[in-house]
Amino acid sequence: MTDSTGLERPVRGSRWSDAHARDALRPILDTLAEVAGSDVVGVSGIRDDGYLQVLCVVGPDDAQEVLVDSLAPVAELLEQLEVAEDWGTLKFVPHDRVNLDVERWGWVADGPRDVADGVWHPQDLLVAPISDDHGQLVGVLAIELPADQLLPTGGSRDLLEMYARQACRAIAAILESERLAEQIRLARAAANIVRRATGSMSAPEVLSECGAAIVDGFRAQALWTHLFGSEPRPVQDADPHSLPQELIEIFVRYSVAAWERQAVGVFAPDRQPPEPLEDADLKAVLEFVDAESLLVVPLGAGPECLGWIALTRGPGDAEWTAGEAEVAFGIGRDLGRALANASNYAREHRLVEELQELADYKSRLVATVSHELRTPLTSIVGFLELLEGDPGLSPRSRSAIQAIHRGSTRLSRVVEELLVLHRTADGELEAPTEVDLGAIVADIVELNEGPAAPRRIELTSSLPHAPVRVLGAAHELEHIVANLVSNAVKYTPDGGHVRVTLEEVDGEVVLTCTDDGIGISAEDQARVFEEFYRSADPDAAQRSGTGLGLAIVRRIVDRHRGGIELESVLGSGSTFRVRLPAL
Ligand code: ADP
Repeated sequence: MTDSTGLERPVRGSRWSDAHARDALRPILDTLAEVAGSDVVGVSGIRDDGYLQVLCVVGPDDAQEVLVDSLAPVAELLEQLEVAEDWGTLKFVPHDRVNLDVERWGWVADGPRDVADGVWHPQDLLVAPISDDHGQLVGVLAIELPADQLLPTGGSRDLLEMYARQACRAIAAILESERLAEQIRLARAAANIVRRATGSMSAPEVLSECGAAIVDGFRAQALWTHLFGSEPRPVQDADPHSLPQELIEIFVRYSVAAWERQAVGVFAPDRQPPEPLEDADLKAVLEFVDAESLLVVPLGAGPECLGWIALTRGPGDAEWTAGEAEVAFGIGRDLGRALANASNYAREHRLVEELQELADYKSRLVATVSHELRTPLTSIVGFLELLEGDPGLSPRSRSAIQAIHRGSTRLSRVVEELLVLHRTADGELEAPTEVDLGAIVADIVELNEGPAAPRRIELTSSLPHAPVRVLGAAHELEHIVANLVSNAVKYTPDGGHVRVTLEEVDGEVVLTCTDDGIGISAEDQARVFEEFYRSADPDAAQRSGTGLGLAIVRRIVDRHRGGIELESVLGSGSTFRVRLPAL
């Protein structure tokens, strides 16, 4: 309890700052003073710095004035109890055994100094130690100067004992509730801080957001924060001078060791320097910092110490209690976690930005290259068509030109699809208009009859008579229908069936394209909407394609706030179903 560092080994002490507790003590002391026939009765509470603080006194005004809030070392009281006569709850120390610094113990009433046995001497000590439920000393009751000037004996001492016992029990309960009230107050402040420190804040935001709450919660004068790798700075400080390097080095050395020990430390003139610091370090800190005392708290996450915070209190402010030290340590841990999250968040954010830039660059590159290829390709295909019409071509040249023509056409398709992919990369649809999807489906089905007929593929459709209106971009919606229908025809063997239906169901327009073609394996179904993905299934691979059609379909469906589903069985056929919001 008298451990000089105190806070690293918490004892049962409190700050005794709550007037409410003092008010509750007064009637108990009044009753006791009456029973004892005593002029002055007082209660002191033990603080965790090893001092007794007088909390409440009944008696003459001058006695109250001198005694209330005065401090005396607990060690002195313990010494006196050892030489006391044990009356039970009460302990009596006759004046000739009293060995106290009288000034520090405060009140010594005037009275005759030379007295006979059985008569109260002004320097006699009559006290009742007050313990909590765990038998720990939490305070002391002191009774002085019986009005009749006589030491109580016999029945009157028994009565006084009984009252003192009851009073001690009541006082212990009040001191305990004061201690709990203080803990609750601190816990609330801490919870407040933790709540503020969550979310997607940057490290400086976390610190400035929490700083005010920490200063309030601890009734501190100022707060310094230092996150390793950045400059230490005051959060709320009238004097924002920066810390000299020497002091930063002391705090860093202390906080790294303290985080390892899971402790916080008090820097105050009457204390030992917190481990592993030395007297000179403590002196340097106290000389520089314009404060009476500091509570230095390491910030950490996992095994790593990330920085520290230092709370300062000025002259006359309360001393740091064990309860505060405990809560402060928890705050260091929670803040450390929040700061670690913040730096992870910042790192991820940077990574996402870089990836986004890379994706933008890739997309711009593809668009530029495609665009540059488009014009020359169009003229190549045009010239090849001209050449093919030349009747003087040898069969060898004709077949070579036809091969070049097929290759160029395929290249043109890739270029066109890349450009569409680029145009639909942005999730937002610009200026959507009212579109009749029924008309689009009818046109595309008709167009696909050309390639379907020679292969005896039966291509049928079922469309409502009335227009089927959706809100969107007509040329994009055309891509959806064209890709699905041409794929169905392409991946259906000769003599197969393809059926396209369009209907309105529960506020949705549903486009279904079903074929009894080669089907898609479950493994491929998971990937066919990826860019450039083509099935490795030999039946699929032998048909020419770019692997871009379904990626484009999916993007356009997304841009129209719709959805796409695929049901397929390898070898039996596939059904693609697109749902779009009806107008
Ligand atoms: P591709 O240009 O290769 O047809 P898509 O993106 O349109 O590219 O389709 C991706 C893959 O999905 C195709 O390579 C094919 O394996 C498969 N696929 C698409 N539609 C069908 C279908 N109706 N029947 C069977 N497989 C299909």
